[in-house]
Amino acid sequence: MYAENVILDMPVNCSSCEKNAVLKRPKTGHSMCRECFFWAFEEEIHQTIVNAKLFTRGEKVGIGASGGKDSTVLAHVLKVLNERYNYGLDLFLLSVDEGITGYRDDSLETVKRNRQQYDLPLKIVSYQELYGWSMDDIVKQVGLKNNCTFCGVFRRQALDRGAMMLKVDKICTGHNADDVAETVLMNFLRGDIARLRRCTAITTGSEGAIPRCKPLKYAYEKEIVLYAYFKKLDYFSTECVYSPNAYRGYARAFLKDLESIRSSAIIDVIHSGENLSVKEDIKMPVQGSCTRCGYISSQKLCKACVLLEGLNRGLPKLGIGKHHKLHDKLVAQEPLTEAEEKKLKGIDF
Ligand code: SF4
Ligand code: ZN
Repeated sequence: MYAENVILDMPVNCSSCEKNAVLKRPKTGHSMCRECFFWAFEEEIHQTIVNAKLFTRGEKVGIGASGGKDSTVLAHVLKVLNERYNYGLDLFLLSVDEGITGYRDDSLETVKRNRQQYDLPLKIVSYQELYGWSMDDIVKQVGLKNNCTFCGVFRRQALDRGAMMLKVDKICTGHNADDVAETVLMNFLRGDIARLRRCTAITTGSEGAIPRCKPLKYAYEKEIVLYAYFKKLDYFSTECVYSPNAYRGYARAFLKDLESIRSSAIIDVIHSGENLSVKEDIKMPVQGSCTRCGYISSQKLCKACVLLEGLNRGLPKLGIGKHHKLHDKLVAQEPLTEAEEKKLKGIDF
């Protein structure tokens, strides 16, 4: 566990008060006692919320809760700050059940305990119920290569649908500084300028979907782990059994290496992403809505509907890569030729 490098075993005074320090803050290197660390960590999140004007009094806010450390810390801190500063928010926990045996079933038990511990209402939406497919079934059909594409597209939409059922005004997710820095790096390496521009935004989706925000955007993962550890928060820390996301894994390992020699590396990458001047004439997709399910989409069919069509027809390749001509045929309900079917049948994509 990361916490071990930063927990102090020699007597040192807290840099903010006279008490004994118990940890060295990864973000600043300051020695701190437990109480002063809690306060500093919570206050920084409060500052992020205030500076970016994330919330408005009276809003209903859904917290995307996976049972993992980030969303558990997010739920805890939002509850604390909502009371301390009287934000006037109505908070809800919102979870997505992807249907992954040995992973999500256990983590959802954690979320259910969090509901009791934080006394917040909980809504769970499942892939099975929304799409008729669980991730276990999807992996059986598509294998372990592109499973995260299906999962990511479905999760995005599932969270929105859950949010609509709860009638919340906004969704907050537990993305932390390390996650944002990783995403900046990955989009940069792929040359994905449209995403690079969007990925550092603290609030997204104001153009149609339910707005999402990341109150932990500047919180270091190491500090989130420390906070959860010293607060004795109840969270689930197992990796997804279908997690092959090698590219992100390398980006993560690279950042961790940088961080070990220069602790500001994570924030530096985020700031670089925020300040990159991107040419104005980059074409951004125009948002419309899916002709089948009504969800926002820049194509006639949204990505979830295309993936689902592929699964239901036994043509899992359909949503992977660009097959716009075939998508148009699907919208028009035209049959595919034998050659087209064959092209899409292979699961070794
Ligand atoms: Fe879904 Fe992939 Fe994440 Fe597992 S690792 S929860 S399959 S996106
Ligand atoms: Zn759709």
